[in-house]
Amino acid sequence: MSNKMDFIRINNFIDGEWVEETGVDYVPLFNPSNGEQIGEVPLSKPETSIQAVQSAHAAYDAWRNITVNQRVSYLYKIRQAMIDKEEDLAFAIAVDQAKHISEARGEVQRVVQIIETACSIPTLIQGESLDHIAANINGRVVKAPLGVFCGVAPFNFPALVFGWFIPFAIGAGNTFVFKPSTQSPYFMQKMGEIFNEIELPKGVINIIHGNRTVVQPWYDDQRVSGICLVGSTPTAKKMAEGCGRGGKRSMLLGGAKNFLVVMEDVQWDVFIENYLNSCYGSAGQRCLAGSLVAVVPQIHDELIERIAEASKTVQFGSALDPEIYMGPVISANAKQKIEKYIDIGVQEGARLILDGRNPQMPDDIKNGYYVGPTIFADVTPEMTIYKEEIFGPVVCVVKINHMDDVLDLIRQQEFGNGACLFTQNLYYTEKFINQADVGMIGVNVGIPAPHPYLPFGGIKDSHLGTNKVQGKDGIDFFTQNKIATIRFAPPIGSIDYGDESQKAEQRSEQQPGVRSCVAT
Ligand code: NAD
Repeated sequence: MSNKMDFIRINNFIDGEWVEETGVDYVPLFNPSNGEQIGEVPLSKPETSIQAVQSAHAAYDAWRNITVNQRVSYLYKIRQAMIDKEEDLAFAIAVDQAKHISEARGEVQRVVQIIETACSIPTLIQGESLDHIAANINGRVVKAPLGVFCGVAPFNFPALVFGWFIPFAIGAGNTFVFKPSTQSPYFMQKMGEIFNEIELPKGVINIIHGNRTVVQPWYDDQRVSGICLVGSTPTAKKMAEGCGRGGKRSMLLGGAKNFLVVMEDVQWDVFIENYLNSCYGSAGQRCLAGSLVAVVPQIHDELIERIAEASKTVQFGSALDPEIYMGPVISANAKQKIEKYIDIGVQEGARLILDGRNPQMPDDIKNGYYVGPTIFADVTPEMTIYKEEIFGPVVCVVKINHMDDVLDLIRQQEFGNGACLFTQNLYYTEKFINQADVGMIGVNVGIPAPHPYLPFGGIKDSHLGTNKVQGKDGIDFFTQNKIATIRFAPPIGSIDYGDESQKAEQRSEQQPGVRSCVAT
């Protein structure tokens, strides 16, 4: 894989065509590993977004009316193309989002797994039926598509969020308009090429680039049936307002502040490995990243010593360097914001154990956006660094007396995405699963991301709207239940019921409500 690349001009993908946006500003696209501009992204006009919705709307009827097997056959083709092009796709993620190349490969592989799950749609989409509700009357629940869905992605999972939304949506018979983050749009540019290579019918998936201006027209567009987002909580709240006003079904995943809870019987090797991945993987820019570590007094000092020692060994540098563990953060702004949080932590009295501000980097990457592993001890719930999502490799250690303390702290949090417990004790485990007020729980794992067959999502301010992504929740979001009541015999007057006993049985089964309902 070569790191040399052509200048990337990101274009919209509408009705199966690459559409260059004119008369608008383009924002620079940077490689966070070295700070170089590698391309540019259009801030598209609202009219172009409306055009993308029109394209998805025009494609809908034909797409929903092909057989479910035919729709799934396209998912298989997308899956195979992603497997064949794994390296290319991972490079696209590593170069603009700066996810370390091995993690970027992992992200592509996870999307392949999600598509494999969505390939079960002929099973997952099956409805229900209740035969013999009354004489010659059956009831059936059909899971039907709704129409056009629109989705918005955050910068940190350009591939995964495509996977969460689109395979389930289109597999169920909907069409889609997708807006990637302007900070990491390159992966979807590659996917657009795949959609054309596999000859996905035009308009089934459209890609529009820009900021909130391209999202706003969706709220009041009658052709849009639902809107989904993965992003920060303030964005989720703004979109919830728009969706509420426009009467759209919504699935809005927000920000997070996740605890790793360490009990006295922790297995240290398991914890340290998971701690490093959870807190410093993707440079701490995951919604399931560990950012608060709660520890009981018996092992408090030992934990700080151990995590400090392990964190000092974390090598960070270019996301394309296979030897390093952690890449940069997404932008110069993000670096500045994270370092400001570290300043605030110091000012508010937390004990800085390891300081990742302004690390010295080699010349070829000295303009990259690096923050090293950072650890604070003696963090208390009043502190800003405890309360706010820092979204960087910054860890806050909080002392608790026993598990009930951290369960209270979790309950009081506005966020409720994930929490992980490190213990060998079954009582602690069951109690934690039962009482931790979050959407996703890990036991002896640092990233409690559920497998694609299961739903993924938090609670409280980490998740607005009704459904979680993936699994049956995802299917429910992208389908509507239609309930059919079917009489399959001639009208009552013309039926020859045969002998009198059969007639009486029929009459007793026909409840008055049902009789009048089916007769009108
Ligand atoms: P962000 O909220 O700044 O942006 C997310 C997307 O929303 C981008 O595409 C952006 O252009 C768009 N956007 C921003 N303001 C908008 C508005 N007013 N209306 C419509 N669209 C708008 O988030 P980010 O910085 O790109 O991503 C990081 C955030 O995402 C973190 O808070 C992280 O926790 C969260 N996240 C959550 C999950 C989850 O599963 N809960 C997963 C990944 C990331």
